[in-house]
Amino acid sequence: MRPLIARISSSALAHNLEVARRHAGGAKLLSVIKASAYGHGLSRAARALAASDGFAVLNIEEAVTLRQMGIEKPILMLEGPFDAEEMSAYSELNLTPVLHSPHQLEWLLLAGEPLNVFLKFNSGMNRLGFSLADFDAIAAWAKARSQVAQVTLMTHFATADEDFGIDWQWERFIAKAQAADLPISAANSAALLRYPETRRDWVRAGIMLYGASPFADVSAAELGLKPAMTLQSKIIAMQNLKPGEGLGYGLTFMADEATRVGIVACGYADGYPRHAPTGTPILVNGRRTRTLGRVSMDMLAVDLNNVPEAGIGSPVVLWGEGIPVEEVARAAGTISYELLCALAPRVALREEQ
Ligand SMILES: *Cc1c(COP(=O)(O)O)cnc(C)c1O
Repeated sequence: MRPLIARISSSALAHNLEVARRHAGGAKLLSVIKASAYGHGLSRAARALAASDGFAVLNIEEAVTLRQMGIEKPILMLEGPFDAEEMSAYSELNLTPVLHSPHQLEWLLLAGEPLNVFLKFNSGMNRLGFSLADFDAIAAWAKARSQVAQVTLMTHFATADEDFGIDWQWERFIAKAQAADLPISAANSAALLRYPETRRDWVRAGIMLYGASPFADVSAAELGLKPAMTLQSKIIAMQNLKPGEGLGYGLTFMADEATRVGIVACGYADGYPRHAPTGTPILVNGRRTRTLGRVSMDMLAVDLNNVPEAGIGSPVVLWGEGIPVEEVARAAGTISYELLCALAPRVALREEQ
Protein backbone atom coordinates (compact mmCIF):
# COMPACT_ATOMS: atom_id res chain seq x y z
CA MET A 1 0.00 0.00 0.00
CA ARG A 2 1.22 3.50 -0.77
CA PRO A 3 2.62 4.78 2.53
CA LEU A 4 1.14 8.29 2.40
CA ILE A 5 -1.45 8.98 5.10
CA ALA A 6 -2.72 11.92 7.12
CA ARG A 7 -2.95 11.04 10.79
CA ILE A 8 -5.68 13.03 12.50
CA SER A 9 -5.27 13.37 16.25
CA SER A 10 -8.56 13.62 18.15
CA SER A 11 -6.73 14.46 21.35
CA ALA A 12 -4.93 17.38 19.64
CA LEU A 13 -8.28 18.70 18.38
CA ALA A 14 -9.77 18.40 21.87
CA HIS A 15 -6.68 20.03 23.38
CA ASN A 16 -6.84 22.96 20.95
CA LEU A 17 -10.52 23.39 21.73
CA GLU A 18 -9.58 23.72 25.40
CA VAL A 19 -7.03 26.41 24.49
CA ALA A 20 -9.70 28.26 22.51
CA ARG A 21 -12.09 27.85 25.41
CA ARG A 22 -9.59 29.45 27.81
CA HIS A 23 -9.23 32.44 25.51
CA ALA A 24 -12.98 32.69 24.97
CA GLY A 25 -13.65 33.26 28.66
CA GLY A 26 -17.40 33.24 29.07
CA ALA A 27 -18.17 33.54 25.35
CA LYS A 28 -19.78 30.59 23.56
CA LEU A 29 -17.55 28.85 21.08
CA LEU A 30 -18.46 27.91 17.52
CA SER A 31 -16.00 25.43 16.01
CA VAL A 32 -15.57 26.32 12.35
CA ILE A 33 -15.48 23.01 10.46
CA LYS A 34 -16.09 24.18 6.87
CA ALA A 35 -14.03 22.68 4.04
CA SER A 36 -14.10 19.19 5.60
CA ALA A 37 -12.89 20.70 8.85
CA TYR A 38 -9.94 22.34 7.07
CA GLY A 39 -9.09 18.96 5.53
CA HIS A 40 -9.36 16.95 8.75
CA GLY A 41 -12.67 15.25 7.92
CA LEU A 42 -16.01 16.76 8.90
CA SER A 43 -17.56 14.05 11.09
CA ARG A 44 -14.25 13.06 12.67
CA ALA A 45 -13.58 16.69 13.67
CA ALA A 46 -17.14 17.22 14.87
CA ARG A 47 -16.78 14.19 17.17
CA ALA A 48 -13.43 15.36 18.53
CA LEU A 49 -14.82 18.87 19.03
CA ALA A 50 -18.09 17.70 20.58
CA ALA A 51 -17.58 20.00 23.57
CA SER A 52 -18.08 23.07 21.34
CA ASP A 53 -21.19 25.17 21.87
CA GLY A 54 -21.97 24.88 18.16
CA PHE A 55 -20.46 24.48 14.71
CA ALA A 56 -20.04 26.66 11.65
CA VAL A 57 -20.13 25.29 8.10
CA LEU A 58 -20.83 26.47 4.57
CA ASN A 59 -23.02 23.92 2.76
CA ILE A 60 -26.38 22.35 3.52
CA GLU A 61 -24.79 18.92 2.95
CA GLU A 62 -22.39 19.54 5.83
CA ALA A 63 -25.25 20.57 8.11
CA VAL A 64 -27.22 17.45 7.12
CA THR A 65 -24.23 15.27 8.04
CA LEU A 66 -23.96 16.91 11.45
CA ARG A 67 -27.67 16.56 12.21
CA GLN A 68 -27.57 12.91 11.06
CA MET A 69 -24.76 12.34 13.54
CA GLY A 70 -27.20 13.41 16.23
CA ILE A 71 -25.66 16.83 16.84
CA GLU A 72 -28.39 19.12 18.13
CA LYS A 73 -26.26 22.15 18.88
CA PRO A 74 -26.50 25.37 16.84
CA ILE A 75 -25.10 25.15 13.32
CA LEU A 76 -24.11 28.50 11.83
CA MET A 77 -24.28 28.63 8.03
CA LEU A 78 -21.42 31.01 7.30
CA GLU A 79 -22.75 32.45 4.04
CA GLY A 80 -26.43 31.84 4.70
CA PRO A 81 -28.76 30.42 2.06
CA PHE A 82 -27.49 30.41 -1.53
CA ASP A 83 -31.03 30.26 -2.95
CA ALA A 84 -34.64 30.46 -1.76
CA GLU A 85 -35.08 26.68 -1.95
CA GLU A 86 -32.56 26.19 0.83
CA MET A 87 -34.83 27.92 3.35
CA SER A 88 -37.00 24.83 3.81
CA ALA A 89 -33.91 22.80 4.75
CA TYR A 90 -32.89 25.59 7.13
CA SER A 91 -36.25 25.23 8.85
CA GLU A 92 -36.24 21.44 8.92
CA LEU A 93 -32.71 21.23 10.28
CA ASN A 94 -33.02 24.26 12.55
CA LEU A 95 -29.95 25.95 11.06
CA THR A 96 -28.73 29.42 11.92
CA PRO A 97 -28.14 31.48 8.79
CA VAL A 98 -25.69 34.32 8.46
CA LEU A 99 -27.70 36.90 6.53
CA HIS A 100 -25.46 39.32 4.70
CA SER A 101 -27.43 40.71 1.74
CA PRO A 102 -30.92 42.11 1.09
CA HIS A 103 -31.99 39.25 -1.22
CA GLN A 104 -31.53 36.82 1.68
CA LEU A 105 -33.96 38.81 3.82
CA GLU A 106 -36.68 38.02 1.28
CA TRP A 107 -35.83 34.33 1.41
CA LEU A 108 -35.95 34.44 5.20
CA LEU A 109 -39.69 35.12 4.97
CA LEU A 110 -40.04 31.57 3.58
CA ALA A 111 -38.79 29.99 6.82
CA GLY A 112 -41.31 27.87 8.71
CA GLU A 113 -40.36 27.71 12.38
CA PRO A 114 -38.62 30.82 13.74
CA LEU A 115 -34.83 30.65 13.27
CA ASN A 116 -31.97 32.24 15.11
CA VAL A 117 -30.12 34.47 12.64
CA PHE A 118 -26.76 36.21 12.53
CA LEU A 119 -26.90 39.57 10.75
CA LYS A 120 -23.53 40.22 9.17
CA PHE A 121 -22.31 43.78 8.82
CA ASN A 122 -19.49 44.98 6.61
CA SER A 123 -17.10 46.92 8.84
CA GLY A 124 -14.37 47.32 6.23
CA MET A 125 -13.47 44.00 4.66
CA ASN A 126 -15.89 44.73 1.82
CA ARG A 127 -16.63 41.11 1.05
CA LEU A 128 -19.95 40.17 2.69
CA GLY A 129 -22.29 42.13 4.90
CA PHE A 130 -24.86 44.88 5.11
CA SER A 131 -23.63 48.43 5.22
CA LEU A 132 -23.25 49.83 8.73
CA ALA A 133 -25.17 52.87 7.44
CA ASP A 134 -28.25 50.61 7.28
CA PHE A 135 -27.62 49.06 10.68
CA ASP A 136 -30.64 50.40 12.54
CA ALA A 137 -33.14 49.65 9.80
CA ILE A 138 -31.92 46.09 9.21
CA ALA A 139 -31.65 45.18 12.88
CA ALA A 140 -35.15 46.56 13.52
CA TRP A 141 -36.58 44.74 10.50
CA ALA A 142 -35.11 41.41 11.61
CA LYS A 143 -36.25 41.79 15.21
CA ALA A 144 -39.79 42.39 14.07
CA ARG A 145 -40.07 39.27 11.86
CA SER A 146 -42.06 36.29 13.09
CA GLN A 147 -39.54 34.07 11.24
CA VAL A 148 -36.77 35.28 13.54
CA ALA A 149 -36.19 34.01 17.07
CA GLN A 150 -32.85 35.53 18.21
CA VAL A 151 -30.79 38.10 16.30
CA THR A 152 -27.01 38.06 16.73
CA LEU A 153 -24.86 40.83 15.25
CA MET A 154 -21.79 39.70 13.36
CA THR A 155 -18.80 41.10 11.57
CA HIS A 156 -15.53 39.66 10.22
CA PHE A 157 -12.01 41.08 10.46
CA ALA A 158 -9.71 41.56 7.47
CA THR A 159 -6.45 42.12 9.36
CA ALA A 160 -6.77 40.44 12.76
CA ASP A 161 -3.65 38.37 11.97
CA GLU A 162 -1.57 41.36 10.85
CA ASP A 163 0.14 44.33 12.47
CA PHE A 164 -2.65 46.55 11.16
CA GLY A 165 -4.94 45.04 13.80
CA ILE A 166 -8.68 45.36 14.20
CA ASP A 167 -9.35 48.73 15.85
CA TRP A 168 -10.28 50.40 12.59
CA GLN A 169 -13.09 47.85 12.03
CA TRP A 170 -13.99 47.17 15.63
CA GLU A 171 -14.62 50.80 16.53
CA ARG A 172 -17.07 51.27 13.66
CA PHE A 173 -18.89 48.03 14.35
CA ILE A 174 -19.08 48.13 18.13
CA ALA A 175 -20.38 51.70 18.19
CA LYS A 176 -23.51 50.49 16.38
CA ALA A 177 -23.73 47.02 17.92
CA GLN A 178 -23.34 48.14 21.51
CA ALA A 179 -26.33 50.44 21.26
CA ALA A 180 -28.53 47.67 19.84
CA ASP A 181 -28.22 45.49 22.95
CA LEU A 182 -28.13 42.21 20.99
CA PRO A 183 -25.63 39.33 21.17
CA ILE A 184 -22.43 39.85 19.17
CA SER A 185 -20.07 37.57 17.23
CA ALA A 186 -16.85 39.00 15.83
CA ALA A 187 -13.72 37.02 16.73
CA ASN A 188 -12.03 34.49 14.46
CA SER A 189 -8.95 32.63 15.76
CA ALA A 190 -6.58 35.58 15.36
CA ALA A 191 -8.89 38.03 17.13
CA LEU A 192 -9.69 35.50 19.85
CA LEU A 193 -5.98 35.06 20.56
CA ARG A 194 -4.94 38.71 20.31
CA TYR A 195 -7.93 40.97 20.96
CA PRO A 196 -9.89 39.84 24.03
CA GLU A 197 -12.30 42.77 23.70
CA THR A 198 -13.79 41.06 20.60
CA ARG A 199 -14.85 37.84 22.37
CA ARG A 200 -18.35 39.00 23.27
CA ASP A 201 -21.12 36.36 22.99
CA TRP A 202 -20.03 33.93 20.26
CA VAL A 203 -16.49 33.37 19.00
CA ARG A 204 -15.75 31.55 15.74
CA ALA A 205 -12.56 29.53 16.04
CA GLY A 206 -11.16 27.82 12.96
CA ILE A 207 -7.47 27.44 12.22
CA MET A 208 -6.35 27.34 15.86
CA LEU A 209 -8.45 24.22 16.48
CA TYR A 210 -6.33 22.42 13.91
CA GLY A 211 -3.15 23.42 15.71
CA ALA A 212 -1.85 26.04 13.30
CA SER A 213 -1.02 29.64 14.17
CA PRO A 214 -2.93 32.40 12.42
CA PHE A 215 0.06 34.72 12.87
CA ALA A 216 3.25 34.97 10.82
CA ASP A 217 5.31 35.98 13.86
CA VAL A 218 4.03 33.59 16.55
CA SER A 219 4.26 29.81 16.24
CA ALA A 220 1.49 27.38 17.11
CA ALA A 221 3.69 25.89 19.84
CA GLU A 222 4.10 29.33 21.42
CA LEU A 223 0.30 29.58 21.47
CA GLY A 224 0.08 26.19 23.20
CA LEU A 225 -1.50 24.52 20.15
CA LYS A 226 -0.80 20.99 18.91
CA PRO A 227 -0.91 20.00 15.23
CA ALA A 228 -4.04 17.91 14.56
CA MET A 229 -2.87 16.62 11.18
CA THR A 230 0.42 14.87 10.49
CA LEU A 231 0.99 14.15 6.82
CA GLN A 232 3.45 11.28 6.66
CA SER A 233 4.95 8.98 4.08
CA LYS A 234 8.08 6.97 3.35
CA ILE A 235 11.10 6.93 1.11
CA ILE A 236 10.40 4.61 -1.84
CA ALA A 237 13.63 5.03 -3.85
CA MET A 238 17.20 6.32 -3.49
CA GLN A 239 19.50 8.19 -5.85
CA ASN A 240 23.13 9.22 -5.62
CA LEU A 241 23.84 12.39 -7.55
CA LYS A 242 27.35 13.24 -8.70
CA PRO A 243 28.41 16.87 -8.79
CA GLY A 244 26.88 18.47 -11.89
CA GLU A 245 23.90 16.09 -12.13
CA GLY A 246 20.37 17.47 -11.97
CA LEU A 247 17.15 16.17 -10.41
CA GLY A 248 13.48 16.01 -11.36
CA TYR A 249 11.38 17.93 -13.89
CA GLY A 250 13.24 20.88 -15.34
CA LEU A 251 16.40 19.77 -13.54
CA THR A 252 15.88 22.80 -11.33
CA PHE A 253 18.16 21.29 -8.68
CA MET A 254 21.77 20.75 -9.77
CA ALA A 255 24.08 18.96 -7.33
CA ASP A 256 27.30 20.85 -6.62
CA GLU A 257 28.55 18.02 -4.42
CA ALA A 258 27.83 14.30 -4.13
CA THR A 259 24.22 14.18 -2.90
CA ARG A 260 22.22 11.26 -1.50
CA VAL A 261 18.62 11.75 -2.48
CA GLY A 262 15.48 10.06 -1.16
CA ILE A 263 12.34 9.88 -3.30
CA VAL A 264 9.20 10.32 -1.17
CA ALA A 265 5.70 9.07 -1.97
CA CYS A 266 3.90 12.43 -1.90
CA GLY A 267 3.26 14.93 -4.66
CA TYR A 268 1.07 17.79 -5.71
CA ALA A 269 -1.81 15.42 -6.55
CA ASP A 270 -1.87 14.70 -2.82
CA GLY A 271 -2.09 18.38 -1.94
CA TYR A 272 1.59 19.03 -1.31
CA PRO A 273 2.27 22.46 -2.86
CA ARG A 274 4.03 22.36 -6.22
CA HIS A 275 5.32 25.85 -5.45
CA ALA A 276 7.45 24.51 -2.58
CA PRO A 277 10.98 25.26 -3.78
CA THR A 278 14.26 23.48 -3.09
CA GLY A 279 14.94 23.99 0.61
CA THR A 280 11.41 23.53 1.90
CA PRO A 281 11.74 21.93 5.36
CA ILE A 282 10.80 18.26 5.74
CA LEU A 283 11.44 15.56 8.34
CA VAL A 284 13.17 12.23 7.55
CA ASN A 285 13.68 9.76 10.39
CA GLY A 286 12.67 12.54 12.75
CA ARG A 287 15.43 14.83 11.44
CA ARG A 288 14.95 18.08 9.60
CA THR A 289 16.23 18.24 6.08
CA ARG A 290 15.07 19.90 2.85
CA THR A 291 13.27 19.12 -0.35
CA LEU A 292 15.20 19.16 -3.62
CA GLY A 293 13.98 20.21 -7.06
CA ARG A 294 10.42 20.36 -8.31
CA VAL A 295 7.55 18.56 -6.65
CA SER A 296 6.07 15.98 -9.08
CA MET A 297 2.47 14.80 -9.19
CA ASP A 298 3.08 11.74 -7.00
CA MET A 299 6.61 12.18 -5.64
CA LEU A 300 9.11 14.63 -4.30
CA ALA A 301 12.81 14.43 -3.50
CA VAL A 302 14.69 15.07 -0.25
CA ASP A 303 18.31 15.73 0.65
CA LEU A 304 19.73 12.87 2.75
CA ASN A 305 23.31 14.11 3.07
CA ASN A 306 22.62 14.98 6.69
CA VAL A 307 20.51 11.88 7.36
CA PRO A 308 23.07 9.16 6.52
CA GLU A 309 21.13 6.32 8.15
CA ALA A 310 18.02 6.97 6.03
CA GLY A 311 17.08 4.58 3.25
CA ILE A 312 14.15 2.80 1.61
CA GLY A 313 11.22 2.79 4.03
CA SER A 314 12.49 5.60 6.23
CA PRO A 315 9.58 7.60 7.66
CA VAL A 316 8.96 11.10 6.32
CA VAL A 317 6.81 13.84 7.84
CA LEU A 318 5.66 16.42 5.28
CA TRP A 319 3.95 18.53 7.96
CA GLY A 320 2.45 18.12 11.41
CA GLU A 321 4.30 16.72 14.40
CA GLY A 322 7.85 18.04 14.30
CA ILE A 323 7.36 20.30 11.32
CA PRO A 324 4.69 23.02 11.53
CA VAL A 325 2.47 23.27 8.46
CA GLU A 326 2.99 27.05 8.61
CA GLU A 327 6.69 26.59 7.80
CA VAL A 328 5.93 24.52 4.73
CA ALA A 329 3.27 27.02 3.71
CA ARG A 330 5.62 29.96 4.10
CA ALA A 331 8.27 28.25 1.96
CA ALA A 332 5.64 27.68 -0.73
CA GLY A 333 4.36 31.25 -0.59
CA THR A 334 0.98 30.38 0.90
CA ILE A 335 -0.74 29.91 4.27
CA SER A 336 -1.41 26.86 6.41
CA TYR A 337 -5.15 27.11 5.68
CA GLU A 338 -4.62 26.43 1.99
CA LEU A 339 -2.36 23.42 2.53
CA LEU A 340 -4.70 21.80 5.06
CA CYS A 341 -7.83 22.40 2.97
CA ALA A 342 -6.16 21.23 -0.24
CA LEU A 343 -5.25 17.80 1.09
CA ALA A 344 -6.45 15.55 -1.74
CA PRO A 345 -9.27 13.02 -1.27
CA ARG A 346 -6.88 10.26 -2.34
CA VAL A 347 -4.94 10.70 0.91
CA ALA A 348 -6.37 8.38 3.55
CA LEU A 349 -7.18 10.02 6.89
CA ARG A 350 -6.33 7.83 9.86
CA GLU A 351 -8.02 8.84 13.06
CA GLU A 352 -6.11 8.29 16.25
CA GLN A 353 -6.24 9.32 19.89
C1 LIG B 1 -13.63 30.60 8.22
C2 LIG B 1 -14.24 31.64 9.08
C3 LIG B 1 -13.85 31.79 10.43
C4 LIG B 1 -12.69 31.03 11.03
O1 LIG B 1 -11.50 31.73 10.77
P1 LIG B 1 -10.08 31.24 11.35
O2 LIG B 1 -9.13 32.27 10.88
O3 LIG B 1 -9.83 29.91 10.72
O4 LIG B 1 -10.23 31.15 12.81
C5 LIG B 1 -14.52 32.71 11.21
N1 LIG B 1 -15.53 33.46 10.69
C6 LIG B 1 -15.92 33.35 9.41
C7 LIG B 1 -17.01 34.21 8.90
C8 LIG B 1 -15.29 32.45 8.55
O5 LIG B 1 -15.68 32.37 7.27
